[in-house]
Amino acid sequence: MINPIIGIIGGGQLGSLLAKAAKKIDIKSVIFCDDINSPAKNFSDEFIYGSYDNEDKINEFIEKVDLITFEFENIPYETLKKINKNKKVLPHPKINLLTQNRLREKDFLNKININTTEYASIRNDKDLKSKINLIPGILKTCTMGYDGKGQYRINSVEKLNNLNPDFNNEFILEKIIDLKKEISIIITRFSKTKYEMYEPIENIHEDQILKYSKIPAEINENIFEKSREWAIKIAEELDYIGTLCVEYFIDKNDNLYVNEIAPRVHNSGHLTINTHNISQFENHIRAICSLPQIKLKKNFNAKMINLLGDNIISYRGKKLNDNEYFFDYLKKDIKKKRKMGHLTITEKI
Ligand code: ADP
Ligand code: MG
Repeated sequence: MINPIIGIIGGGQLGSLLAKAAKKIDIKSVIFCDDINSPAKNFSDEFIYGSYDNEDKINEFIEKVDLITFEFENIPYETLKKINKNKKVLPHPKINLLTQNRLREKDFLNKININTTEYASIRNDKDLKSKINLIPGILKTCTMGYDGKGQYRINSVEKLNNLNPDFNNEFILEKIIDLKKEISIIITRFSKTKYEMYEPIENIHEDQILKYSKIPAEINENIFEKSREWAIKIAEELDYIGTLCVEYFIDKNDNLYVNEIAPRVHNSGHLTINTHNISQFENHIRAICSLPQIKLKKNFNAKMINLLGDNIISYRGKKLNDNEYFFDYLKKDIKKKRKMGHLTITEKI
């Protein structure tokens, strides 16, 4: 069989690392992105610039590839649905419809008996003022948030009364969990009950943005097992193909909750490039292209540090130790808190 050519929607660091992983196994990639300065054009075989509702550009993209995947989940559902009629989109667009909306996502998790924080749908001021039981809480827009964008922390009922969210948007109010830790699981599902799963990754956020990830996560055996079990359950229920990330909260009493599902490769899985025989990116490409599933093997433990904003500067051209791996996303402009690159430091097992 001739290797397929894959189309990737989105041209940030995740698209870049997917294109790089594809190249490694001789698969050509075409990136479609609405940013002319997309860093992924440095890594893919071809690059098409256009907005995500530009039909001509989308058609040009579809013509060039055999199947399509994406680096971020917030592509308009109608666009994905239309593309899927021509060329297969994996994971399936119906999964985007679910995960694009925090409320739908939490309803789904609870329906399959997976714990989440308590939450409520908030559509107007009356809804908001009546949910005192969820304070302290975080009001989040149901759609289009990332890295803490579109979120308001509400620490007291008084603060609740002073808030004036724009109710043209739909909101969810989530009770704040007294966090002990955050972890994530990255799982690649190839087909029914066939998957490769990485061990839980421990994540530290600063200002709601991921700052550090590491394996092994310091968690108890019960949480280790339960997080794996839930990740498999989610992947099976969604009939998922490709790499999926499940983000978890652990509270001070060692209760486990799912925070959110990312139907794509994930920042916390960057360290898999250096710790495992097959990275989350290569596994994604393998699964969507129906290539052979290879048993995962861990070679190292590691810590990953996100380089945000001008943190990147001192790493460019820096001499590194043998166990340090620096990734520069080659983004044109440095912006405060923008993910510019990362550093992975491996450790012997
Ligand atoms: P995003 O889509 O922006 O990643 P998240 O819902 O994952 O949004 O929130 C980002 C971070 O904010 C989380 O990783 C966590 O550190 C903190 N956070 C969000 N919701 C809660 C919550 N209900 N309780 C405690 N911390 C939270
Ligand atoms: Mg998150």
